[in-house]
Amino acid sequence: MADQRPGTQDPADGTGGGADPAAGAAAGEALARAWDELVAAARRTVADGLVVGTSGNVSVRVGDTVLVTPSGVAYDRLTPQDAVGVDLEGRQVLGTLTPTSELPMHLAVYRTTSAAAVVHTHAVHATAVSTLVPELPLVHYMSAALGGPVRVAPYALYGSDELAGNMLRALEDRSGCLLQNHGTVTYGSTLEQAYDRTAQLEWMCRVWLTASALPDRAPSLLTTEQLGAVQEKLRGYGQRKG
Ligand code: 13P
Ligand code: ZN
Repeated sequence: MADQRPGTQDPADGTGGGADPAAGAAAGEALARAWDELVAAARRTVADGLVVGTSGNVSVRVGDTVLVTPSGVAYDRLTPQDAVGVDLEGRQVLGTLTPTSELPMHLAVYRTTSAAAVVHTHAVHATAVSTLVPELPLVHYMSAALGGPVRVAPYALYGSDELAGNMLRALEDRSGCLLQNHGTVTYGSTLEQAYDRTAQLEWMCRVWLTASALPDRAPSLLTTEQLGAVQEKLRGYGQRKG
């Protein structure tokens, strides 16, 4: 059987393989590194309780290749040889395992944004909220980290183009959304950022459900003006650079 490790195949799709062997080797190494990070993130979704079993999926873009988790394979069984890559049209350019069934959602994000990573989970509180409201109420200022009030994409069959379309509309000016009766989708300019947005979204959904659970009480909510001020301030959040 042919060696399926990322560094041993030429994706021939703009990631640097082809005539120049040094460029090809560097591209292969970048893919191998990205695959290791993707597998670690996928395993973390299970460890952090964001998914059960083989639910959810993760992808990372390296040049014009999108590495994705394979469909229905337990993340702890994935090895460096199992890397799965597709191009932006969904043609498989790497590996032999069948890509995630949610390829339409992942590719829709890469085609329309500058995302470098996409994380999809079935996180409990987020999924519960997706069955209750068309938008997560502004219960916490961290909504600003996802671009504003987080919308719920109307239900459609998993893996369908219809679901990908519903998700894209819900993601307009946002880096995350809920999928009705299904789960979460977030993206970021790094895998770490995409993952952190999922964790923040799940946490906010938990806060809203907790605060909404008391009889005869309703949580106070932020205004869009208050959220706008947070969005402005978050630009300078963290350690000063340089
Ligand atoms: P895959 O195993 O095909 O990635 O599907 C999991 C999932 O969450 C579908 O929505
Ligand atoms: Zn799913």
